[in-house]
Amino acid sequence: MKRLILILGDQLSPDIAALKSAEPGDIIVMAEVADEASYVPHHPKKIAFIFAAMRKFAAHLQDAGWQVAYTRLDDPDNSGSIPGELLRRADQFGTDQVIATEPGEWRLIQALNDVPLKLTLLPDDRFLASHHDFEIWAEGRKQLRMEYFYRDMRRKTGLLMEGDKPAGGQWNFDHDNRKPAPKDIIGSGPMQFAPDDTVQEVLALVGARFGDNFGDLHPFWFATDTTEARRALTHFIQTALPRFGDYQDAMLAENRFLYHAVISMYLNAGLLHWREICDAAETAWRDGHAPLNAVEGFIRQIIGWREYMRGIYFLEGPEYTTRNVLNHTRTLPALFWGGETRMRCLSKAVEQTRTEAYAHHIQRLMVTGNFALLAGVDPHEVHEWYLAVYADAYEWVEAPNVIGMSQFADGGIVGSKPYVSSGNYIDRMSDYCKGCAYDVKAKTGEKACPFNLLYWDFLIRHRERFVGIPRMAQMYRTWDRMDETRCDTVLQDAAGFLIRLDAGQVV
Ligand SMILES: Cc1cc2nc3c(=O)[nH]c(=O)nc-3n(C[C@H](O)[C@H](O)[C@H](O)COP(=O)(O)OP(=O)(O)OC[C@H]3O[C@@H](n4cnc5c(N)ncnc54)[C@H](O)[C@@H]3O)c2cc1C
Ligand code: SF4
Repeated sequence: MKRLILILGDQLSPDIAALKSAEPGDIIVMAEVADEASYVPHHPKKIAFIFAAMRKFAAHLQDAGWQVAYTRLDDPDNSGSIPGELLRRADQFGTDQVIATEPGEWRLIQALNDVPLKLTLLPDDRFLASHHDFEIWAEGRKQLRMEYFYRDMRRKTGLLMEGDKPAGGQWNFDHDNRKPAPKDIIGSGPMQFAPDDTVQEVLALVGARFGDNFGDLHPFWFATDTTEARRALTHFIQTALPRFGDYQDAMLAENRFLYHAVISMYLNAGLLHWREICDAAETAWRDGHAPLNAVEGFIRQIIGWREYMRGIYFLEGPEYTTRNVLNHTRTLPALFWGGETRMRCLSKAVEQTRTEAYAHHIQRLMVTGNFALLAGVDPHEVHEWYLAVYADAYEWVEAPNVIGMSQFADGGIVGSKPYVSSGNYIDRMSDYCKGCAYDVKAKTGEKACPFNLLYWDFLIRHRERFVGIPRMAQMYRTWDRMDETRCDTVLQDAAGFLIRLDAGQVV
């Protein structure tokens, strides 16, 4: 009996498990559905990227001889959901057998399991660590530190290994990284692609249906197939990787990409595989093209952080996105959706998010994430914002980064302490503060940088929880040594700021 082979929008890999198990006569099912495109208000560039890449992948499968039942968003028969499309295709082709690869979101896994058809759900083996591997690694550990997981992944892959020792004698070269941005940024940024006919058609559709969502659809320059994504990868390795390590934490208002790869959307959708990316980076080091600190740092993000985040998401279960151990309840301020703000760092990070559907790690963590955490925003709202606005956002990777790493809402599973900072960190790592309406050096008063005020407000609000963490104790000692009147003024100014924020005033 023929079977339906389901391929989702982030499963665009020729070796995806469901496709590997397909046989001649099976029907490949792919569908652009309203449910997936609108369960959060996705950035129009993200929707266009996924639909365009899906259409090209489907064409590629058809050229290879597969029968593809492809539903376009505007097809009159489109049922609007993945389960609905499976039922419709099952009826059309007279089968009740479905083979799918496990989706990267609990919501969709549940939805597939609920479809009244005979479903075989295969593990997504495009990752280095299976759920079982991660469970075994996590078992019995008091703390799930990424660094130890990463070392296991280095051993497992042999990447940057010399025998059983790490290349260069160290596992991690981060102390060589984290330099502030230099004035002379060289490099042309990520490779950009002119929209072809398929992309143009999708852009028209997305513009008409999702044009009111937060985010600019044009100019659209993403790669939308594997050939293009590989060219973008090669371009990164040749032009940016050598300086990736040094400047990975730096931020510049007028240089959005610095030396970052800008490949996460391609990797997460299946256009690239982690192995080819890491092999290309390692080769660049072995050929003397890129230094070890850059290549180690880059490979760590992929076989370390990325795999670790996925492991946490599936280990912690469907309730993870509702965690809120700090009991933060503030509504996400309008400035996250482009509302006016005098804070230049936030204004620039949000503006870049609006135009590119991209911000690099430190902008996400130490500008938007830091502000949301310090201001006590409801982490679920923060999670939904990140899920909506970035082209690379899928819940398995976004949620642990937001709920865990950025908002500390999981109580310290991902991070041993919250990622919070005053304005000083942003000033050191960026050029945002020059030209800001606030004064990063001012600790109180009208011109005081809001990060300075909220930083103390946050630490004092959560003193009981954090004072015992060794790496935070120093901050509490500093506070306790401060003049009492000054402490009162800081907290009063912070409270005043939050009142203005809640009242919708421009802050
Ligand atoms: C609050 C917050 C939300 C995030 N949401 C997402 C998300 O939805 N999707 C996503 O892919 N990444 C997310 N990240 C991780 C990271 O910011 C992005 O992967 C990175 O910015 C993508 O840009 P790049 O390709 O230029 O990455 P580079 O800086 O060049 O890094 C190379 C690659 O490493 C991987 N990587 C790096 N850091 C991480 C990480 N912390 N977790 C997982 N993979 C990582 C990515 O695949 C990335 O392409 C988030 C980080 C934070 C702090
Ligand atoms: S002064 Fe404060 S608000 Fe302004 S850019 Fe610097 S860190 Fe951001």
